[in-house]
Amino acid sequence: MSTFSDLGLKEPINKALRDLGYEKPTVIQEKAIPQIISSSEDLKAFAQTGTGKTAAFSLPIIELADETSTATQAIILSPTRELAVQIGRNIEDFSKYLPNLKVVTVYGGSNIDQQIRQLKRGAQIVVGTPGRTVDLIKRRALKLNTVKWLVLDEADEMLNMGFKDELDKVLEATPETKQTLLFSATFPREVESIARNYMSNPVEITSGQKNQGSDNVSHESYFVTERTRYQALKRIADVNPNIYAIVFCRTRRETQEVADKLIQDGYNADSLHGDLSQGQRDSVMEKFRKKNIQMLVATDVAARGLDVNNLTHVINHKLPDQIENYNHRSGRTGRAGNKGVSIALVNRKERGKLRPIERILKKKFVDTAIPTGEEICKKQLFHLIDKVENTEINTSKIDAFLPSIYEKLNEFSREDLIKKFVSLEFNSFLSYYENAPDLNNMSSRDDRGDRNNSRGGRMSNENMTRFFINLGRKDRLNPAKLMGLINEQGIDKNVEIGAIDILDTFSFFEIDKNFENQTLDAFGNNNSEFNGRRVNVEITKERKGRRSGGGGRRRNDSSNKGFGRSRNNNDRFQGKKSNHRKFDRRSK
Ligand code: AMP
Repeated sequence: MSTFSDLGLKEPINKALRDLGYEKPTVIQEKAIPQIISSSEDLKAFAQTGTGKTAAFSLPIIELADETSTATQAIILSPTRELAVQIGRNIEDFSKYLPNLKVVTVYGGSNIDQQIRQLKRGAQIVVGTPGRTVDLIKRRALKLNTVKWLVLDEADEMLNMGFKDELDKVLEATPETKQTLLFSATFPREVESIARNYMSNPVEITSGQKNQGSDNVSHESYFVTERTRYQALKRIADVNPNIYAIVFCRTRRETQEVADKLIQDGYNADSLHGDLSQGQRDSVMEKFRKKNIQMLVATDVAARGLDVNNLTHVINHKLPDQIENYNHRSGRTGRAGNKGVSIALVNRKERGKLRPIERILKKKFVDTAIPTGEEICKKQLFHLIDKVENTEINTSKIDAFLPSIYEKLNEFSREDLIKKFVSLEFNSFLSYYENAPDLNNMSSRDDRGDRNNSRGGRMSNENMTRFFINLGRKDRLNPAKLMGLINEQGIDKNVEIGAIDILDTFSFFEIDKNFENQTLDAFGNNNSEFNGRRVNVEITKERKGRRSGGGGRRRNDSSNKGFGRSRNNNDRFQGKKSNHRKFDRRSK
């Protein structure tokens, strides 16, 4: 691997890079820097966020810019104010030992007169958001006739945000002779068309496979319904006590609602979206960078400018409308050599989007079960124990109090003390999850509910036949897969599917009584296999212990041991909510 000076950069730049701790160029930097320095050909670069692309286009421009002239030589367009500011700051850092090199950053939502004054003083490099750049061109405050380099950063995102007209206007204002450098993480049709129309025979470089996700990111899908989506999100947060995540939503309203609920439930969360004032956005981002916020609920656009390298998770509360954007989102984690997890919460309809995303990523989603209350409690408990183990003791501060503390606690055994201290920290978690239902099973019930609603109401248990099937969790069966299996048998498509209970080695499902024989025959005749096992379906004889008329209640899951819970009491679970609110994660 080469060094920055091998790439042809002068010493003042190398010195600045050393100050920043950049030891070696990244892949995209190694490819783009010598190419731009040595050739005036246009460049089309496939680069994910987090690959070091800002330096890849900025460093050669700083290297080649004529410091003796104050005319604008480079215009860098970026989709959001945050990203533009970040690029501007990076360029200042890279050029700090080149005192005559100036950069001005222009963006909307900020005083335009001040930006005009800065431009008048002269800057070789201008970074701007498309709207404000066009505005300044119209006001003749920004002249691009001397531009040698035009950079379109995150071109796909600029087009997604509807900046096509603005890009056209900026391109028109620049001379034919310029070199265009287009950086994009994805290359949908609209970006290709910009490349075709405005670039001549561009050289293509890539920092990995086109559009492909980072190797450091693993992808997990969780099957939810609209009723379990938020609960699943909370459980994912609870099972990852050190979570540091962006939770992506599609609309501002959804973003605000999810953030409000998380805050109300005691999580370190906040929202970031376009309805907030610039000051509010800056403040939220600052808190998130400092990790005062663990979960940032954001729209795609608002999160673009965030430069955070150590996110543990990206959570797609809802998948993006355009599947290419999944890649953008998941690229926020697994940066700078760290590992990350990208999670998609999907309902039955949204599952269809996973396959096309997998094709882009060239990776499979791992179908993952929503954590149970028991799993969460275990995780939280050991997290607490780890924290205790790693806590440093400040002897000088507590020594004076110890004798009276020892005296007070003298009557308790070591075991009792441990139990008391664990309970003190942990009781609210235990009580919250004590009767928590298995959301994976609830998913099927809710889905079935949706289905039944669309077909005119849920049937009562009396009209259902309960079937046994010789497959369970150990066969990787879940409610959705079981529904799929039933649907594959060619049974009348109007058949009503009732309660589904997935146990470890076998399961139960209910079918409209009128289709009892058809179901038995279909499974019998089809000789179906599931994960290599021959499927066997029978009508259950045992009906003891079932609730009548409820339609949606679960039988106890016999595999559910420990913490003394029964999973079928959803009402009690709801009733425990207030306990959880008292448990304030912010104090942790
Ligand atoms: P970017 O893709 O330009 O947003 O960069 C992602 C992150 O990587 C930023 O925090 C950069 O400061 C950092 N970075 C970029 N290039 C290097 C490098 N060669 N060595 C170390 N860190 C880098």
